[in-house]
Amino acid sequence: MTTERLSAFEAVNRYFADAARLIELDDDMARILTTTYREISVQVPVRLDDGSLIVAQGYRVQHNGARGPYKGGIRYHPDAGLEEVRALASLMTWKTALVDVPFGGAKGGIAIDPSGMSQAELQRMTRRFAHGIAHVIGPYRDIPAPDMNTNAQTMAWVMDAYGQGHGYTPAIVTGKPLGLGGAPGREAATGRGVIDVLAAHAERTGMELAGTTVAVQGFGNVGSFAAMHAAQRGCKVVAVSDQWGAIRNDAGLDVDAIATTVKAGAKVVEADGDHEVITNDELLAGPCDVLIPAALDEQLHQGNAADVQARVVVEAANYPTTPTADDILVDRGIVVVPDVLANAGGVIGSYFEWAMNVQQFQWKEERFNAELADKLRVAYAATAAFAESHSCTLRQASFAIGIQRVADASRLRGYI
Ligand code: GLU
Repeated sequence: MTTERLSAFEAVNRYFADAARLIELDDDMARILTTTYREISVQVPVRLDDGSLIVAQGYRVQHNGARGPYKGGIRYHPDAGLEEVRALASLMTWKTALVDVPFGGAKGGIAIDPSGMSQAELQRMTRRFAHGIAHVIGPYRDIPAPDMNTNAQTMAWVMDAYGQGHGYTPAIVTGKPLGLGGAPGREAATGRGVIDVLAAHAERTGMELAGTTVAVQGFGNVGSFAAMHAAQRGCKVVAVSDQWGAIRNDAGLDVDAIATTVKAGAKVVEADGDHEVITNDELLAGPCDVLIPAALDEQLHQGNAADVQARVVVEAANYPTTPTADDILVDRGIVVVPDVLANAGGVIGSYFEWAMNVQQFQWKEERFNAELADKLRVAYAATAAFAESHSCTLRQASFAIGIQRVADASRLRGYI
């Protein structure tokens, strides 16, 4: 068992090492794949509406680009420092390889709490950051997307700022508004994909989705769509939460109504309905068949993994489970469907959007959703088959498949 004091990047590289052993990856290649290609840190001064100035720090980390342009989101969060962004960039490398989209892995972030900022302040900050990283991004170089606390509007500002120097370039970012070249289906893709993967897992293991009880931690873009799609497929969503608290009803929550309330600016605990208010910790440890962490990193850790009652944990967030917690869950016989598989619907949707942009073509949403489900089914099946043939976990299998593909491409390119 590992100690809990690993940084996020060390933790992801612990997952890497477990999988690398399974495919007998050589040490030289492992040294390339456990380090990053390029990291930039840029100063982001922002004039606030009250006239004061803040000087934030922004980052873009490009982990590996052997299989295609670097790809990954930009998050605004106080914890989005270099070490966390490195970890998330490397997860993108394994994710894009596992689901076989022609991208590498990257991530960006500004270490700031954007919650009190006005739209004007957010726009100024985003434009300044976009100009700061403009020399390392490009539609065939590195393509940002939304992540925690960023959205389609953020991407519109990045596209516009980049376009000021380069001309009209919709393929510079994905997750754009529909009116600027975004793809119908992309906004819901990560959450929908989480349930597509759960459905594939249920089918293989003989688990009936109808009536399966689900708890979802986090009700942002990923958690809200995951909860709604779970309900649409017959699951009973018994608990949901946001950063202010959680609600629970064993008879099932009306997640569409909660989503409407939250979209209008309310907190989850303020939603109408017959439910009890509980804490986020109680949600994670509460009775359910399937637990979907869809919020921050490291939510399942040494201190609470033994309390999880779910039979299956589906990681909608990136890196929600520390290696120590992962060991505890595995020892307890709880199946963990890992982030690089479970939340890959987002980047698959980004690939569709990018491909439409470079072809100046638009798909209908039905095609988008059908191709999304298909790609996730293929990735789930490959992961499950590897896990069975190597008697390993789904996490080890998904990393092993991703690592093997990136190692093969790196070797073909002559990296070593
Ligand atoms: N931020 C999402 C993720 O972590 C999507 C990234 C993308 O589409 O580039 O997978």
